[in-house]
Amino acid sequence: PVVTRFAPSPTGFLHIGGARTALFNWLFARHHGGKVLLRIEDTDKKRSTQEAIDAILDGLDWLGLDFDDEPVFQSQRAERHAEVAHQLLESGHAYKCFATSEELEAMRAEQRANKQPMRYDGRWRDREPGPEQEGQPYTIRLKTPTEGETVIEDEVQGTVKVRNAEIDDYIILRADGTPTYMLAVVVDDHDMGVTHVIRGDDHLNNAFRQLPIYDAMGWPKPTYAHVPLIHGSDGAKLSKRHGALGAEAYRDEHGILPEALFNYLLRLGWGHGDQEEFTKQEAIELFDLDHVGKSPSRFDLKKLLNLNGHHIREADDARLAKLVAARMEQPPAHELLELAMPVLKLRARNLDELATGAAFLTRKRPLDVDEKAAILLDEEGRQRLALVHERLSSEKDWTLEALEASTKALAEELEVGLGKLAQPLRAALTGTTQSPGIFDVLVLLGREESLARIADQAV
Ligand code: GLU
Repeated sequence: PVVTRFAPSPTGFLHIGGARTALFNWLFARHHGGKVLLRIEDTDKKRSTQEAIDAILDGLDWLGLDFDDEPVFQSQRAERHAEVAHQLLESGHAYKCFATSEELEAMRAEQRANKQPMRYDGRWRDREPGPEQEGQPYTIRLKTPTEGETVIEDEVQGTVKVRNAEIDDYIILRADGTPTYMLAVVVDDHDMGVTHVIRGDDHLNNAFRQLPIYDAMGWPKPTYAHVPLIHGSDGAKLSKRHGALGAEAYRDEHGILPEALFNYLLRLGWGHGDQEEFTKQEAIELFDLDHVGKSPSRFDLKKLLNLNGHHIREADDARLAKLVAARMEQPPAHELLELAMPVLKLRARNLDELATGAAFLTRKRPLDVDEKAAILLDEEGRQRLALVHERLSSEKDWTLEALEASTKALAEELEVGLGKLAQPLRAALTGTTQSPGIFDVLVLLGREESLARIADQAV
């Protein structure tokens, strides 16, 4: 059975790259009917915060990514990591290194001077500690193979090889007995039964360092899939400057729906023909690693907003009304906002545009009229409004069809285009020049409020 995991380091919010890694792990597991686990890699106690953990959990939850079993906190497993380090020591796959930090610094300085790659030279690899090492601090280093090469058949990158001579005998247990990150990842992945490691390709080099631990312990190796990182629209590695934010910022600041971000992240690096829109269910059915691209994809906020617009039009009106009301200072009654939603959502790309569009519903009379609308309310416009008021006052049937028919008839009688009536009408009813269809606006505001707003501006 497939077991994947998402293993964020909680040093900041759930950024867009992390969210995509989480999504791919989630989809792969769900597609195969397996498990997806969450591991919080909080071993860097100085940089890991509870706030960051909460932000990550909140972001994942909002995106609709649920995890199986309880989250694993890496920091709570230090004893187990140390146990494996000692097993490796006993089996001869690791050794004690008594080199002092001054000594190692001198080694590196020499390598730097000789323009050699800086790596531990294995000085304690085959050396037995003498009486002078008695009671001295030591680290435990992995005895990595020195000859041959390590090959990874990566599900995304293809065949990748590294000469073993390039992998140094790195530290797995520090002098204070704490495990290093490299050891912790492998032990945790093994103990959690992880079969597929799907993560950013900035970890590809680590895979070559991690594999010798599997070999030494005789553990089955996971399948790797290293996904290219996300770049900004200018091709540089994605950063805040490109508008890349934490998942919760897309919700809070941009008014993005979770299913839209889900869909967008899916398309960042994975494709199914030229299909752009996917429901969650479709994504689960179709997702595979074969169609994850090898080159970095580019983050594009505009595309995300357009996709969000599509998802807004698909979304349930009552749900949208709730989300939009939360973003308005003076939200209309829920029923009214829900009623307005089919009209409002025709063009909106995010929740704020919906909120702006809905603002006319609760404006107080007499309306503040913006500059552009004021131009439409000139002498001529105000006279026409008086005629519209007269006509609509006698309208018994306050429905879209009836209001449209009467207004059109009036325009014909006056021998003017419908716009000549609709424009001042829009200005009077909303105080702006942009709104949903004018007859929708009349219906939503109702007879009394509409006529009062028109009268306020008419002469
Ligand atoms: N904690 C690592 C990160 O946030 C991920 C490690 C892994 O996936 O193996 O980059």
